[in-house]
Amino acid sequence: MIVLGIETSCDETAAAVVTDAREIRADVVLSQLDDHTPYGGVVPEIAARAHLEHLDGLIRRAMAEAGIGFGDLDAVAATGGPGLIGGVIVGVMTAKAIAAARGLPFVAVNHLEGHALTARLTDDVAFPYLLLLVSGGHCQLLAVEGVGRYRRLGTTIDDAVGEAFDKTAKLLGLGYPGGPLVEKAAARATDPARFELPRPMLGRPGCDFSFSGLKTAVRRHVEELGGVLSDRDRDDLAAAFQATVAEVLADRCARAIRRFKEEHPQGGALVVAGGVAANTAIRSRLSTLAEKQRMPFVAPPLRLCTDNAAMIAWAGIERFRLGESDPLNFAPRPRWPLDPNAAPVIGRAG
Ligand code: ATP
Ligand code: MG
Ligand code: FE
Repeated sequence: MIVLGIETSCDETAAAVVTDAREIRADVVLSQLDDHTPYGGVVPEIAARAHLEHLDGLIRRAMAEAGIGFGDLDAVAATGGPGLIGGVIVGVMTAKAIAAARGLPFVAVNHLEGHALTARLTDDVAFPYLLLLVSGGHCQLLAVEGVGRYRRLGTTIDDAVGEAFDKTAKLLGLGYPGGPLVEKAAARATDPARFELPRPMLGRPGCDFSFSGLKTAVRRHVEELGGVLSDRDRDDLAAAFQATVAEVLADRCARAIRRFKEEHPQGGALVVAGGVAANTAIRSRLSTLAEKQRMPFVAPPLRLCTDNAAMIAWAGIERFRLGESDPLNFAPRPRWPLDPNAAPVIGRAG
């Protein structure tokens, strides 16, 4: 089985060709970074126009790299949400057009399910597993019990963790997107223990997260330094922030592991996914935790942590081989929680 995947939910335009033998035949990603950098964040209208301009060419490139024609495909999968609706519409309409023209099944993929199932594309990961999903818009702990079967154990009550990285980067004058820049600055730090930051939710019952207080504490330090940071101040603060996030994530995961093991005595892996999973310090902190808990730890390769279309093609394969596909009147969804039974958290999608 061979599937074309399309991703357009945020500021990456991406197309990929993946097989059910877990072979990534092509995986092309075009970042719109330069289009959005002048604004310090993603501008939805600019993103939608850029997707429209580049998607056809990217699909052509992916198909050429895979060495196949549309006639070789078994299905077309596209991100159907959640995300910036203008971009999602561009991807969904393109996928539907290919499906209609070629008489192929169309699969609308939940972008978060794409992140959630990536580990099964790159590693031998069986259900159930405990997933820490840490991305630009989400921070959740989920028991993944099967394709389409997600039980949320915890979520952020305010900012997503990637968002916290991006806002902190802005405060430190590091630019956008913040995650990789904060990580680089932290690696240059001379005294990572110089700044004390609060550890929100640490030791609290439950598996929820909170990051807005941490961001405020960074702002306070910047103000105390007179608003002007030396390179050293900036790097030390970045290191303090990153270490605190890693510690809080590990604490919340430790609690979730306890619950997961009670509910799934047969065990399962600890999996991390989403853009923030590309952070080496966070990966290594979680890997240590998993080792202590005698759980296998799986983190996708860095380029499959941030947004890509291989994960969308793969999630499409996972659903399609269970006999699932979507009608051509599928309506793109700006919001689409993975666990529809989880209580909504005020102000956040899913
Ligand atoms: P969502 O998946 O929730 O819809 P998204 O698709 O915008 O959001 P991703 O592409 O999965 O998010 O992740 C992007 C986020 O990951 C950004 O906030 C970015 O700063 C963060 N990020 C990327 N690399 C790193 C890194 N090395 N360290 C920390 N954060 C990182
Ligand atoms: Mg992005
Ligand atoms: Fe994402």
